[in-house]
Amino acid sequence: MSNLDPRAPFVLDTRELGRRPGSDRQMSFTAPAPAGLGIEVLSIAEGSPVEVDLRLEAVVEGVLVTGSAYADLVGECVRCLAEVAEEISVPLQELYFYDDRDQDPEDDEVSRLEGDLLDLEPVLRDAVVLALPFQPVCTEDCPGLCIECGARLADDPDHAHEAAIDPRWSALADLQQDQD
Ligand SMILES: [Zn+2]
Ligand SMILES: [Zn+2]
Repeated sequence: MSNLDPRAPFVLDTRELGRRPGSDRQMSFTAPAPAGLGIEVLSIAEGSPVEVDLRLEAVVEGVLVTGSAYADLVGECVRCLAEVAEEISVPLQELYFYDDRDQDPEDDEVSRLEGDLLDLEPVLRDAVVLALPFQPVCTEDCPGLCIECGARLADDPDHAHEAAIDPRWSALADLQQDQD
């Protein structure tokens, strides 16, 4: 009884590994990124390559997976909205429990094999989100956008406007002068 599709790119078959504790296998593959891998402002584009290097080790309780994944990120600077392109390398580590063990109903959070199959995608997804900066910027000192016209200040550092004062601000300025 398995809900996993053995042909899905991040579903791995552990049959060759066997279940004798201590046996291990190395595997490397490249697969297309699933949709929604990342956060709104920074993510791995759907279908772009994700390189995965893994070590699978049979332990008493299940299969321990350790390794890393590499991919290109695309996103936009939170200050100036320019495109941000970065590479990401994330560590992966997860113990997948054998599904034939008694299942503690409190244990919903753990990863389980389905038969010989394991699904790396949820683990990859969590690892990517954890590794992302939540406020991506094009450069550390990005000055952002002009609050008056929306121009990107990094492209035009000497950017300035005539001091055309909004009537609401001039009323405020008058008020401040009255107080002085
Ligand atoms: Zn920027
Ligand atoms: Zn401006």
